[in-house]
Amino acid sequence: MKHEKGRSFYIHTFGCQMNQADSAIITAILMDGGFRVAGSQEDADIVILNTCAVRENAVERITHQLQFLRGAKRRKKSLLVGVAGCVPQHLKREMLEMFPVIDFLAGPDTYRNLPALIGDAEEGKRPAALEFRIEETYAGIDPFREVGVGAFVPVTRGCNNMCAFCVVPFTRGRERSQPFSAVMDEVRRVVEKGYGEITLLGQNVNSYADPEGGRDFASLLRAVSREAPGCRIRFTTSHPKDISPDLVDAIADSPNICNHVHLPVQSGSSRMLHRMNRGHGIDEYLETVALLRRRIPGVSLTTDLIAGFCGEEDEDHEATLALLREVRYDNAFMFYYSPRFGTAAWKTLADTVPLAVKKQRLQEIIDLQLSISAECLQEAVGSVVDVLAESESRRSTEQLMGRTGTNRAVVFDRGGARPGDRVSVLISKASSATLTGVNQGVLPAFYS
Ligand code: SF4
Repeated sequence: MKHEKGRSFYIHTFGCQMNQADSAIITAILMDGGFRVAGSQEDADIVILNTCAVRENAVERITHQLQFLRGAKRRKKSLLVGVAGCVPQHLKREMLEMFPVIDFLAGPDTYRNLPALIGDAEEGKRPAALEFRIEETYAGIDPFREVGVGAFVPVTRGCNNMCAFCVVPFTRGRERSQPFSAVMDEVRRVVEKGYGEITLLGQNVNSYADPEGGRDFASLLRAVSREAPGCRIRFTTSHPKDISPDLVDAIADSPNICNHVHLPVQSGSSRMLHRMNRGHGIDEYLETVALLRRRIPGVSLTTDLIAGFCGEEDEDHEATLALLREVRYDNAFMFYYSPRFGTAAWKTLADTVPLAVKKQRLQEIIDLQLSISAECLQEAVGSVVDVLAESESRRSTEQLMGRTGTNRAVVFDRGGARPGDRVSVLISKASSATLTGVNQGVLPAFYS
């Protein structure tokens, strides 16, 4: 290889947990290729922006970084700048014309090429590796993770659902699953390294289908739960249409699988769900919610919502508000719709809702959800919860911050506990986003 071994790199990660997991894969690939991790962006010989294209302002957000890097490159001529992930996959080689500061591009399926791409970039070739590789799952790569309490384990990549508003099928390609044996190998490594929480990841994680033995997601989840009895198990993101009764049973029956399901609904109107190509109506969604609540008492539900999708009328918006009141989500990610280039909605549906109306509807959704979230937190006061301590709290070294299995943030007095411990906490107070409690003692490491 022509690249100079030992050059240092820094990855700036944008977007979701999937991108954080990809940055750990990129780091492992580059270290294996002889590069080393820089302590900061300023110290690095190579800076890689690992990007996300899901939100409208994705390009604006990286533009700011690229402008900064243009200045850095003037000061350090040998600095290489790469852009990886969904944005280059979406914008293709045009990105190189838009931003002369960029030296190389790598899409989500070409990270194994990065050492070679950097070599070509050093020769001034400005390479772009943007092809989809349906077979690529990065099986066999041991991701290089930050030291911490939780570890992400990707189990699917890409998505076949083609929701009308979403760029993911165009930036991450068709869905593929990691072989069951590769996931289990990865879980064993994570357990050996002492992590206390494993999050199984995929754009549509619960459509997992083992390419070797045909196991489904419920079967995988049970196996991971048994392999890691001292870890909490989470998963995201689920599609409501792929929540099977067996998956609900797996969560209900396994003490270390968290009682939290992120269940994106997007709209409370079946008419809008049909336009969005979500593959279910609101009645089926509510049946799934009822099943989860029946089988998993105290289950926490969170969701994603889009205000003002193409053709949304006042009654559709009212249906969304009614849904929020009925389901009472713990929390939600809430956005107004903006067309994303290349998606089905961008090609075939008129963006009919004026921006001012979208913003107004979004504000009503946010106001209602915030009040419901606050009530949910208030209801927890007086209960004793099982918290996995993650870090010192920002306010005091005498306090720790952690999360319940239902994914609520809790701050409590440290006592004898350390990050990574399971701690029993009596909740004494609720603010708008956080619970505060009293340490009742460290719990056994194994869930039972
Ligand atoms: S399920 Fe729909 S919203 Fe989620 S990644 Fe796939 S296409 Fe996008």
